[in-house]
Amino acid sequence: MNIDFSKNTDGLIPAIIQDSETKAVLMLGYMNEEAYRKTVDTQKVTFFSRSKQRLWTKGEESGNFLNLVDIKNDCDGDTLLIQAKPVGPTCHTGADTCWQTENKADYGFISHLEQTIETRRENADSEKSYVASLFQLGINKIAQKVGEEAIEVVIEAKDDNDDLFLSESADLLFHYLILLQAKGFKLDDVVEVLKSRQK
Ligand code: AMP
Ligand code: ZN
Ligand code: ZN
Ligand code: ZN
Repeated sequence: MNIDFSKNTDGLIPAIIQDSETKAVLMLGYMNEEAYRKTVDTQKVTFFSRSKQRLWTKGEESGNFLNLVDIKNDCDGDTLLIQAKPVGPTCHTGADTCWQTENKADYGFISHLEQTIETRRENADSEKSYVASLFQLGINKIAQKVGEEAIEVVIEAKDDNDDLFLSESADLLFHYLILLQAKGFKLDDVVEVLKSRQK
């Protein structure tokens, strides 16, 4: 679909800027046709600045460019979703995003689970909380538990009971997240290692 720059009388349409990797929303800017063209030509996200009343390439002073990855037009052609790789913090305040949020990977439910595990470690009564009781036993016991769950996964992999295989896989992942926490790490630290191996 064509981008409809004429919908608004000023020829500007909103462009939502999203980190192509973390999916965090970084900022919102406005583009006219010229800004759009320049963005495509230079591969650096360029807006029409309403305050400066001129084309503005994000990062032109700070060096914190937004390197273009992908542009998507919305259902009725009047709003852009632009995926980019930010060179540095996107907000002029120095924050990662214009909403002062951190631009870090979000693994959805897994991140939520990591948060729950952290809270249990800090606050929970080890009589009532299994997670808290594991932390009380210490790293060696937690590591041993991960080993046991890994063996259970191996055993179930040889069978064809999918339910048991998935159940043991969940046990393994859960205890592995606890071990990471006990060692002071998060899943994202492991993902970063994996990413660094991709080159
Ligand atoms: P920059 O494009 O990063 O070199 O910044 C140049 C100027 O643009 C800054 O001094 C701000 O006035 C403005 N600016 C930079 N980033 C943003 C932003 N995310 N939202 C609005 N204005 C910004
Ligand atoms: Zn629309
Ligand atoms: Zn900002
Ligand atoms: Zn198990």
